[in-house]
Order: sequence, then structure tokens, then C-alpha cells
Amino acid sequence: MAEEAGRNARQEPQVDVVVVGAGFAGLMLLHRLREAGFSARGFEQASDVGGTWYWNRYPGARCDIPTTDYTFGFDPELEREWTWSEKYATQPEILRYLQFVADRYDLRRDITFDTRVDRAEWDDAAQLWRVHTSGGETVTCRSYVMATGCLSVPKEPEIEGAGRFRGDVHLTSRWPHEGVDFTGKRVAVIGTGSSGIQSIPLIAQQAAELTVFQRTPNFSIPAHNGPAPAARVDQLRADRDAYRESARWSRMGVPGEATELKGVTTPEDVRRQRLESAWEAGELQVITSVFADQGTDPASNEIVAEFIREKIRAVVTDPETAEALSPRDHYFGTKRPCLDTGYFATFNLPHVRLVDLRKTPITTITESGIDTAGESFEVDAIVYATGFDAMTGALVGVDVAGREGVSLQEKWADGPSTYLGLMTAGFPNFFAITGPGSPSVLSNMAVSIEQHVDWVAGCLADLRARGMTTIEPTALAEEGWNRHVADCAAITLHPTANSWYMGANVPGKPRVFYPYIGGVDGYRAAADEVRERNYLGFRLTGPDGEQCTDGVVRRLQPDVAVVLEMMAQLGLPALESLPPAQLREFMDTLNADRPLGPEVGEVRDGVLPGPAGDLAYRLFRPASPGPHPVVLYFHGGGWVIGDHGSDEPLCRDLCARSDVVVVSVDYRHGPEARYPAAAEDAWAALRWVADHAIELGGIPDQLVVAGWSAGANLAAVVAQRAREEGGPALRGQLLLTPVTDSAMATDSFRENAEGYVLTAGVMQYFWDHYCDPAARTEPAASPLRGRLHDLPPAIVVTAEFDPLRDEGIAYAEALRAAGVPVEHVAARGHTHTSLTMVDVVLSGAPVRAEIGARLRALLPEPATV
Ligand code: FAD
Ligand code: NAP
Repeated sequence: MAEEAGRNARQEPQVDVVVVGAGFAGLMLLHRLREAGFSARGFEQASDVGGTWYWNRYPGARCDIPTTDYTFGFDPELEREWTWSEKYATQPEILRYLQFVADRYDLRRDITFDTRVDRAEWDDAAQLWRVHTSGGETVTCRSYVMATGCLSVPKEPEIEGAGRFRGDVHLTSRWPHEGVDFTGKRVAVIGTGSSGIQSIPLIAQQAAELTVFQRTPNFSIPAHNGPAPAARVDQLRADRDAYRESARWSRMGVPGEATELKGVTTPEDVRRQRLESAWEAGELQVITSVFADQGTDPASNEIVAEFIREKIRAVVTDPETAEALSPRDHYFGTKRPCLDTGYFATFNLPHVRLVDLRKTPITTITESGIDTAGESFEVDAIVYATGFDAMTGALVGVDVAGREGVSLQEKWADGPSTYLGLMTAGFPNFFAITGPGSPSVLSNMAVSIEQHVDWVAGCLADLRARGMTTIEPTALAEEGWNRHVADCAAITLHPTANSWYMGANVPGKPRVFYPYIGGVDGYRAAADEVRERNYLGFRLTGPDGEQCTDGVVRRLQPDVAVVLEMMAQLGLPALESLPPAQLREFMDTLNADRPLGPEVGEVRDGVLPGPAGDLAYRLFRPASPGPHPVVLYFHGGGWVIGDHGSDEPLCRDLCARSDVVVVSVDYRHGPEARYPAAAEDAWAALRWVADHAIELGGIPDQLVVAGWSAGANLAAVVAQRAREEGGPALRGQLLLTPVTDSAMATDSFRENAEGYVLTAGVMQYFWDHYCDPAARTEPAASPLRGRLHDLPPAIVVTAEFDPLRDEGIAYAEALRAAGVPVEHVAARGHTHTSLTMVDVVLSGAPVRAEIGARLRALLPEPATV
């Protein structure tokens, strides 16, 4: 009834859409809305269009993405009418461009300038937003879009005494329109991010004395400004549309070649050549992708970082200053790297001095200068290049109240929560352009802005076409997206830095990774998919009812998804179509180039007696002094493929993490030796290892059985048999994505039958080659059907996208019901195989760390010497 009454109270707003902000985003959005036949009003607190390029007029301000790319690409006519003069255009030229855009599409007539939007509230009964401005106006609109910028709210200079200084004070991000003349002045610049690094060389040209107060040195490479790069210009001329399209589907929004080379394994001469040519290119997207793994592997990152430090040392003549300018507290790229023109050489000038605030922090700003812990500096002017309350500052800076009066500040108190960075639950018809959770500041923003604007304009047109009034994300979809954003960041080095990407520059700001690092291409694919799947994860309402296709758009771990995509592109044959011999050969080829896993103290091969002949084993010993607990490990491979060395990366990982000897033992395979051959071999191996623990460097009564997949099946089977036969005594059983039952009838078999490497078809093939149908229900084949009392404590690991998931869960539950202590580790977003892909699927590492810790907890503390 209330809903009915609400619908009846629905009112017509004054305009369809209110757009806040008149930078790149607001301008394009107004144009697109007008094209689509919506009425719109824009509000901008500045006196004209331009956004970033209106406010940031400091000397040296330029873009850091080549201007061929940092430009609108949505209208070929517009592109024909504008030619950029340089590789990296200056602020005045970019501002002129945005003014030209505003004129060309006659946008100013819809924008009210010098007017701030202070407050906006959703009226659920009327189904509209009321937007209140600093001019005292209230405008009603159906949709409210904040195109307010990621870097538009200057950060407060939170420095003691900042208000006391009597000289000139300038913020790079609020620079006077008439410019500033520093001739003959003693100038202090605080801050060495992009704004400081761009302005310092030019301020130095005028100032009598320049003192740079640096808290954190930053990585910077020379921009090598000049004419636009010929290769890009040629590509654009040859086929503009193709060029722009490739930007839309690139990682950063700039077309470029991706490399597969890894830093550490690339030969020194090739490394050097790639680094030098990236240095010469003077482009962020080149220096940030010299090696495929520089954003994830500390050692690879260090190669790039040290190369840049070496360049700094080559330029800066005073070694102490060179060292102070050399970043060592964050990985390259985890804070935005800078492009400069003569920045480091500026410190060779006699009137320029660097003050390292890590050694001598600022104690206070005085009436006449700056006091540090070591010295007092008298200055005539202070320039704050201290950055922004990025990503969320402008959004929560407006008092936005959604459904039931909940404010955005309240909802985001612990960090932003969005669906696709575009919308947030509880705030119907409220959109952010390049909001947190979208690629935004990690990309060429011109491309990301266009993508967002087109998505929003398309969405509003779809709502109108369907007779719908509101759109709002569901809690499920939003949580899923937040998790995906965090998952993407977690496999990179980014979260380790005290960067503004992490909110670390603003005291008290929640520490999360704000942008989406899954790429412009990955993001676009997700946003397109949401729309194509009938607005997956959104609730749409209208006078005639509502529609909701609830769900999560990205559930796989990001690197697992990449592996699956790569495998799909390889066009591999269906594994079950290969005869076993061929399948074994094929798997050997696939495994040949994989990383071996972490260093361990010793790896050695041996044989032990089995019931039908010797069984090979490989032993992994930790580097620490022994003896150690022993883990008897059975490899995966469906009882058909694999051997004692086929799970080596996982065995090494287990050995290194848990400080245990791992003995990976072979067993006979089907179809040549069918059930129960493998189980018999596994049993023989257990007895032998228990009897020979001391020779193996083990502690006799600290034995665990472990295995992956079919190997976990064998581990479970021998654990049951050991109980039956009164020994050997086991401390535990570690079952990684185990096969526990032959029925293959669980939900996970249906949900994950295809697409996640281990398919239902492959599992059927394994069973068929291993075991006669009549014997499959025996506990030695299907341990879930065995007696589960009095078994050793178990660690059961299941993967979300695994046909075997539910039988693993069922085994854990059945063990628990039988009184066996069980730790269940559910690997979210993983597949049957991905946890074993050590050093390839990085998102598996925390899961393996958890497994390692739980395994260790089953064992007594290592004896301390
Ligand atoms: P903005 O340009 O920030 O515009 C937002 C506008 O909203 C502002 O004018 C602001 O006044 C207005 N506004 C905010 N809140 C309110 C309110 N409550 N009421 C009324 N008006 C409001 N990105 C790149 O990709 N490449 C680059 O080379 C690059 N260089 C940069 C250089 C500098 C110095 C800075 C600071 C940023 C740079 N960026 C760069 C990021 C840049 O912000 C974006 O590229 C782009 O300009 C953002 O456009 P926008 O329209 O989203 O936001
Ligand atoms: P920034 O990167 O956040 O840099 C701010 C600098 O001020 C940092 O060196 C910071 O040190 C320092 N700082 C902040 N508070 C301080 C304090 N209380 N005491 C001492 N030092 C303090 O800001 P920005 O340089 O304006 O750049 C922000 C972003 O805008 C860039 O990353 C980039 O995305 C964009 N931008 C691009 C360009 C371009 O080249 N096109 C130019 C300017 C800006 P800490 O590092 O220790 O916090």
C-alpha cells in the first residue's frame, strides 16, 4: 500500500538531470544528455568550464598522458577541428580546448557558474532529487550526476602554524589567474608530487632562492616534450577510429604493446635496452610496463626502481642530495610516477636547496618562514603542492542524502562502497563519473570519462525506453564489486604504499585502495556485461512495477580469470578427448615452463617399495635445521596423470611455509593399473614413510597425510585405513579440493561443469579410467561413504569454482559430525587447479598461507635450540 501511495506521489522534476562540474566529464555528459533528448542543468563552482585545467594554473602544469590520447575521441568532427601543439600540452592549451568544446556544442547555456552544489537529497515519495546550490536555488531532477572530479578538492595543509605566515601563500591547485611573479623572492615549495615536480624547475628560474621541502621523494622520468610522437600521430592519421577503439580496450586507456617478459628472468642486456627505451619514450604507460610483473613482484619492481635511482645519481651532482631525492620507501608505480622537465637538474643550481623532511621535519610555520627540527627558513612565499583529498573528497564534500536520509558520508565512513564506481545502494539515480571503484586515476582519464558518460547516458535512455523511473544497485552486486576491486588490488604492490590511492595522504581518511586496478579494458567489459545482462545487479522501478536481475558480475579472482582466458585463447583440446598417454604428454608440455615454487633447503629423489614394485618419491626439506614433521603428499591428476614431481611448486610451497619435510610419492595409475592399485600404493607409502621417518629427516610421531584432488582422495583413504589397522599414527590430514565421492551429482558439479579446467567431463573420464562402476562406492574409492569416526584432525580446502567443491564441503561436514576436528578453508574465486599455480596465480598465496598456518597448528611447536 505504502509503495502504491509512493508511486502515486511521483512528481515531474524541473529537469531530467542535474550535472555537477564542468570539466571533461560534465561537459561531455551535458552534450550526450542533450543529444539523447534529456533536459539538464549544470552547476560549476568555478567561473568557467575546464575543471582541473581551470584551477591548476601553476607554472609547468601539463598533462602526463600524451595529448594525442588525453583528448575527447567521441566525435571525429571535433577531432578534425582541433590540433594539439605538443606531446604534452600545457594547462592553457588544455583549458582553451575545453572552452572550444563548450563553445562548439553550445554547452555554457545550460551551466550555472560560480555556483556550488551544497546539498542534495532524494525524495522517495516524489521519486526525485532536490539539489540545493550556494546561490540559494533548489532544483528538482530525476537523476543527479556528480562529475565533480577525482582531484578537485585540495587537501588542507595540515602543518602546524600554517595560518600564521604573513608572506604570499599559493596552492598549486588554486593558482591565481593572473600568474605569480617570483622574481627576486625567497620561495618555499612544500610537496614533491606531480604538481611540485612540474612547477619547481620553473619557479627556480625566477626565484632568488628556492627551498624545496620534501617529505617523500618521488619517481620521475623526463617527459621529453616536443612534437607529438610520430608513431602515434601516424597511427591516428591512418585509422583514427581503430586507434581510439584500441585505447578503449587497452589497460590504461592508451594503445600500447603488452609484454610477457618478467623482470628477474629477462637477460641483463634485454632489460637494459627496454629500460633505456622506456626512459627515452618519456611516457608513463611505457615505464610502468617494462616488465609484465613489475607491479606485482618486488624483485622485478626493484630493477626498474634502481634504474631510475641510477639516472637520478647521474644528474644530481651532490651525492647526498641525489640520495635524498631517490625513492626507497615505496615500490615504483605504487605512488603515481611523475613526468618532468629538468626536475632533478634543478637541484644542481646554487640557489636551490632540498630539505629532507624525513630527517628534519617541519616543526611549525612562522610569520616569516618555516621552522624545521634543524633550521629556520625565512621566505617571502610558500607554495603548497600538497595534493588533494582524492577520489571521494568532492563526493562527500556535498551533503548527499539518499533513501531514508542516510548520507553518503555515513555510508562511506569506512571507505567508499560502489557498484562499478558508478552508483551506490540507497541512492537511487545518483551517479558518479569516475567514482571510486573505477579505473579513473589509474588510467587516461579522458577515455575513462567517455566510457562512464556513455554508460550513464545509455542507462538513462534505457530506463526511459522501458518506462522505468529509478535505478539502484543491489547490496549483493555492490558487495561483490567492492570485493573484486579489493581482490584486484591485493595481488599488486599498490596497497603497500602510503599513497593518495590508499587515502594515506589525508589524516583520518579510511585506508582502502580507492580506484579499480583491473584495467580500462577489464572495467569496460564488466560494465558492458552488466548492461547486456539486463542490468545485472541493479533494481529498476517504474510506475508499472520493478525489475531486478540480481547477481555479481565478477566472482573469479582476477588472476584466475586471466589464466582461464589465456587457456581459452589457446584453444586447447577437450582433455577427455585425449587417450591417457597423450594426455600425460600434453600435461608435461603445459607444465614445462611453470615457475618451480619457492626455494627450499633440499630436493632429492628416491624410491620406496610398493606392492607391485618401487615407487618414486621426491623429498622437499626446509632450509631450517631438522628434524621436521613429515607430510606424505599424493599428487593430483585423477589417478591417471601426474607423478611424484608434478605438484612440485605446491610441495615446495608447503615445505617452505610450514617448515615440514614433504615426501611426494608416486602411485600406479589407471587405466593401466586400476582401483585399488593407487590406494594400495598409497597405503604402502604411508607405512614405509612412517617406518623411515628418522632417515628422511623427520620426527617419527609427527606425520601428516596430504594430497590434492585425486591425491587428496588417497590421503583421506589411507587416513581411514590407518585408523582401521591401528597405525601409523597421524597428526592430521590435509585434503586440498579432494575427490570424496563418485556420485558427481552435487550442485557444484552442475554449476561448474564447464569452463574451470576440471570439467564434469574430465572427472567422468578420470573415474572411468580409474575404477569400475561397481567398486566406486567402496570407501577406498569414495571415502565420504566410509566410517569417519576417530580420524585425525582434518584441513579440508575447497574452491568456489570447482565441480568437486560440494563433495569437499560434504566431507568436512561429515567429519565434523563424526567428532573429527575440521578446519574448512573455502577459497573464494578459485578453481580446482588455481591454488596449485604457485607464483602464477598470486591470489592463491594468502589461501596457501592460511593452509600452511593451519597445518603448522596441527603440529607441536618446533623445538627451540
Ligand atoms: P574535474 O576536471 O576535476 O572537474 C570537476 C569540476 O567539478 C571542477 O571544476 C569543480 O570545480 C567542480 N565541482 C566539484 N564539486 C562541486 C560542487 N559541489 N559544486 C559545483 N561544482 C563542483 N588525468 C589524465 O588522465 N591525464 C593527465 O595528464 C592528467 N593531468 C592532471 C594534471 C593535474 C594538475 C591534475 C590535478 C589532474 C590531472 N589529471 C590527469 C586528472 C584530471 O583531474 C582528469 O584528467 C580530468 O581533468 C578530470 O575531469 P573531471 O571533469 O572528471 O573533473
Ligand atoms: P600529491 O601527488 O599528493 O603530492 C603531494 C606532495 O605533498 C607529496 O610529496 C606529499 O608528500 C607532500 N605533502 C602533503 N602533505 C604534506 C605535509 N603536511 N607536509 C609535507 N609534505 C606534504 O599531489 P599532486 O602533486 O598535486 O598530484 C596529485 C595527482 O594529480 C597526481 O598524482 C596526478 O595524478 C595528478 N597530477 C598530474 C599532473 C601531470 O603531470 N599531468 C600534475 C599534477 C597532478 P607524501 O608523498 O609524503 O604524502
